[in-house]
Amino acid sequence: MVRKVIIAGNWKMFTDLDEATQLVKGLKASYANKNDVEVVICPPFISLATVRELIKTSSNLLLGAQNMYPEEKGAFTGETSPMMLKSVGCRYVIVGHSERREYFKESNAFLNKKVKVALDYQLIPIYCVGETLTERESDKTFAVIKTQLVEGLAGFSAEQLKKIVIAYEPVWAIGTGKTASPEQAEAVHAFIRKELSDLSDAKTADSLSILYGGSVKPENVTELMGKENIDGALVGGASLKADSFLGIINY
Ligand code: PEP
Repeated sequence: MVRKVIIAGNWKMFTDLDEATQLVKGLKASYANKNDVEVVICPPFISLATVRELIKTSSNLLLGAQNMYPEEKGAFTGETSPMMLKSVGCRYVIVGHSERREYFKESNAFLNKKVKVALDYQLIPIYCVGETLTERESDKTFAVIKTQLVEGLAGFSAEQLKKIVIAYEPVWAIGTGKTASPEQAEAVHAFIRKELSDLSDAKTADSLSILYGGSVKPENVTELMGKENIDGALVGGASLKADSFLGIINY
């Protein structure tokens, strides 16, 4: 099965409008359309419309949001709806990043609603799962990830699941410079695919792209991408410099 390869850059809360503009211009200047890789840029909300204008002629450079509130509109001060994300040209939305789970206490049940509403609006959710260091050290990695998958993806048909992208991001590897070894990552990716198969069927599970995230850089991406069940990367720090992000895209 040939799966879509996706490299997504999560700029988190690191770029103001000028910095986002410079970063995307830098990317565009040296980005050669690699047809087999879908590149997704996730700037802060405030820069989405500007970045969209700058990338709209690049067919493989797509826009994603870092988060979303799961209602179309309403009295939710400070929140951003899927309809709004669509209106600025977003194709993807990150759901359940570990920083949202930790700092904003987003539960699997709430994330399940976000995934559902994203799909309702034809946004592709990048649903993030991953264990903390304490969980890994107490041998709970697989149990934690299973719960995140079973609860976060509850109630979806195989047709819906096919439209979701999963990101495995061990929390201990995010922004720490510690990468999971390709073998550690592959073991969890294979487990995720098996769980997805239980939630739907083998064919559906086989078609889903599962991204790895956690201190991915040009120096380690090739080895990670060489693993059978790793179909791309969700990149934080190294997506903030055009050179290093391009080094990852051109792995
Ligand atoms: C992330 O925030 O999703 C991430 C993987 O960050 P970093 O690449 O900086 O570890």
